[in-house]
Amino acid sequence: MKLKQTKYIFVTGGVLSSLGKGIAAASIGTLLKNSGLNIGILKADPYINVDPGTMSPFEHGEVFVTDDGAETDLDLGHYERFLDESLSQSNNFTTGRVYQSVIEKERRGEYLGKTIQVIPHIVDEIKDRIKNAGKDKDILIVEIGGTVGDIEGLPFLEAIRALKLEVGKNNAMNIHLTLVPFIKAAGELKTKPTQHSVGELRRIGISPDMIICRSEKSLDKELKNKIAISCGVEKNCVIESIDAASIYQIPLNFLKQDILSAIANILDLKNLKPDMENWNNLVKRVIAPSNEVKIAFVGKYIDLKESYKSLTEALIHAGAALDTKVNIKWIDSEKLQNLDSLEDLKDVNGILVAGGFGYRGVEGKIKAINYAREHNIPFLGICLGMQLALIEFARNVLKLKDANSSEFDEKCQNPIVYLIDEFIDSNGTKQIRTSKTPLGGTMRLGSYECEIKKDSLLSKIYHNAKSVKERHRHRYEANPKYKKMYEDKGLIISGENKGLIEAIELKNHPFFLAVQFHPEFTSRLENANPVICGFIKAALNNEYN
Ligand code: GLN
Repeated sequence: MKLKQTKYIFVTGGVLSSLGKGIAAASIGTLLKNSGLNIGILKADPYINVDPGTMSPFEHGEVFVTDDGAETDLDLGHYERFLDESLSQSNNFTTGRVYQSVIEKERRGEYLGKTIQVIPHIVDEIKDRIKNAGKDKDILIVEIGGTVGDIEGLPFLEAIRALKLEVGKNNAMNIHLTLVPFIKAAGELKTKPTQHSVGELRRIGISPDMIICRSEKSLDKELKNKIAISCGVEKNCVIESIDAASIYQIPLNFLKQDILSAIANILDLKNLKPDMENWNNLVKRVIAPSNEVKIAFVGKYIDLKESYKSLTEALIHAGAALDTKVNIKWIDSEKLQNLDSLEDLKDVNGILVAGGFGYRGVEGKIKAINYAREHNIPFLGICLGMQLALIEFARNVLKLKDANSSEFDEKCQNPIVYLIDEFIDSNGTKQIRTSKTPLGGTMRLGSYECEIKKDSLLSKIYHNAKSVKERHRHRYEANPKYKKMYEDKGLIISGENKGLIEAIELKNHPFFLAVQFHPEFTSRLENANPVICGFIKAALNNEYN
């Protein structure tokens, strides 16, 4: 820590959701981190779920998993990918979590008989959690989920209002992200929604210090000045955030508008000169790469691409590292299941089968894996993708026709994938699960060691490392009972964790790798994941006709 005390940047959103608050917060974090400061970042979500773990991808996009096994908001993924840092449970909390701890404290009698109220108890709990996340950090960026005006967001806004007063001048600032829509009929960008949104913030006692305007078109000086005057911020504190070809351009776009001088002024910081050279070079390769590959992405949530956010971003990172554009051909596994021909897989350089839950689309994924195996097409299977690669191998090579996962067929005679009832979680605690265990919080979650087999493809990918740590999110495990049978037929178990199967590969295939972990969770723009890079490299070498 360089500064004497932690300073706070609070990021709120107005007008509507999905404006990219998380990316704006992460972009500012990147610029500050690359200026040599120690940055922390936190997402506070006003919804009631204790964590997003049990939410459907249709509701909430991807569930992002941290090293310590927290199932968090997908914005934490953006933070890690931008800041190249591993975050934890303490970097994301929800209303549900806040109430849960306040109620637990109340039950333990810690409030000494007081009446428990939103003010002060809930707000204090929120403040404490923010302060905790800011410990030892020069700057903590706090993103408040939702939109200003939401009823459930009020305690969070009250907490940041009070905290700003508590830490004093030059130690906290409010950034408000709004939409400046372009109205075609009038041919104009409109500032009124921004003014209303700031008005709403003011009503609860928060005056923004900086406005970031999402818009389709560039804001001229006159318009920026108008926003500055009507919203009561300095002229250099109106920053535009226009739609960019890549999200990784956004820090660079902010930098061009000298956002750091404005922040330095408000927070009384000196010498903010970020080193963005490496970042800049990677962004150039994201936008105008020299090579191209086409990857078939076989999944069942393809109408909802947000649910594969980390994986699609990881493909971009690998592409940047290899100066390659990764074109994704989305393939609906459920549709594939009912097709006679696999025409869709004929023009791709690689086949990727992603993770998932439930039986829908599974047989289509197995078909795609079979095609990749038999046609020597580079293949990467992730989590469910590995489980299904084993089932495919068991059914078609080992000739165990009823091979399945007990997730899909509880009575199956050849449970290639099954439910183990005891495992040690990433905090070292013994967990017991049965088919009757409730869904929330009973998975093998977070970072686990994977011991790598010498001279394997996996070992080559991880530059001869003996072991690596990657993140998990699954309930079922590959059954080690079939290990010998696999090995006799040329399937290698190349990664293991205390006897649990972590990675498999095929001997006589250009690139056939499947992993139980999710390599995409540790991939960052400046640090692409080796497994994904290895796969894209193999795809680059695989010319289709
Ligand atoms: N459904 C499988 C399991 O629970 C795979 C999970 C996943 O792909 N993330 O083990």
